[in-house]
Amino acid sequence: MLIPVRCISCGELLADKWEQYKAQIKFKSKKEVLDELGVKNYCCRSIFITSEDLIDQINQYKKQMV
Ligand SMILES: [Zn+2]
Repeated sequence: MLIPVRCISCGELLADKWEQYKAQIKFKSKKEVLDELGVKNYCCRSIFITSEDLIDQINQYKKQMV
C-alpha cells in the first residue's frame, strides 16, 4: 500500500519522508532512521513501521490482458 500523505491521527506530513526512510532502513535500524527524520509521535512512527510497498508483489498476480 502507499503511505498516507498525512498521519491519520495527528495530521503530521509523512509522505515527504517515505523515500528517504526506505533508502536508509537498508543500513540502519528503523528507530535510528525515524529519530533522524524527526518523526517523534508514536502514531506517525507506527505508520512508517507498518507500511510496505506491495505493488511489485501484487503485479505478479495481475490478470493477463489478451
Ligand atoms: Zn501522527
